[in-house]
Formats: sequence, structure tokens, C-alpha cells
Amino acid sequence: MLTLWRRHKSKCEHKDDRYWRKCRCAMWREGTVEGRYERHSLKTRSWERAEEIRRGLEDRKKAPEPMVARVKSNPPIGKQGEEIDSAKLIRQSLMRYGKDKKTVQEKVLKLLSS
Ligand SMILES: [Zn+2]
Repeated sequence: MLTLWRRHKSKCEHKDDRYWRKCRCAMWREGTVEGRYERHSLKTRSWERAEEIRRGLEDRKKAPEPMVARVKSNPPIGKQGEEIDSAKLIRQSLMRYGKDKKTVQEKVLKLLSS
């Protein structure tokens, strides 16, 4: 369960109420995520936006990351347990050789066939 609260500016007249919704001070969240207590800035000043972010975080806890799920269900290399590392290597190569498409293709093919 995540709690939303405002970190008021020192000049804010509502600074004594961290759950005051109507001012425009920075929104923060705190609570336990996967067994760990966390406190983070939400980088927004809107209570509504903060609730959207919280909903997103709570939904993500229920379902696996779509990206990870896709890599796992379609591994670029057959060996068990190496899928994610391989995908990372390919992504690094793509970034490193991003300017030269032919080199990228060769690199990826090499990675896939190794
Ligand atoms: Zn405030």
C-alpha cells in the first residue's frame, strides 16, 4: 500500500497538513513495495497525477513487466537463464553501433548464432 503526501514548501500555508490536496507543492509517495519501505518524489505537483502514478505502480506489482515477459516467452538464445542477458547485449550493441545499420545486423546475427 502506497501513501501519497505533499512535501510542502516552507512558505506554504498548508505545510502542517501533508495530505492537503489543494496547494501546488511537490507530491511524494511512501510505502512498502515488494517488502521494502520506499519514499520517493513523484515529480508532479498534481494530486490526481500522483494517484495515477500510484495506480500504475500497484498494477505493476500484480502483473510482470511486459518487456521482461516478452523476452522470457521468446528468448533470443535457446539456453535457459541467459535470455535477459542476451537481450541486454543486443541492446548495448544496437546503441554502440547505432549509426551503422549493417554493423548492427552483423553484430546481432553474431550474438544470436553464438
Ligand atoms: Zn503546500
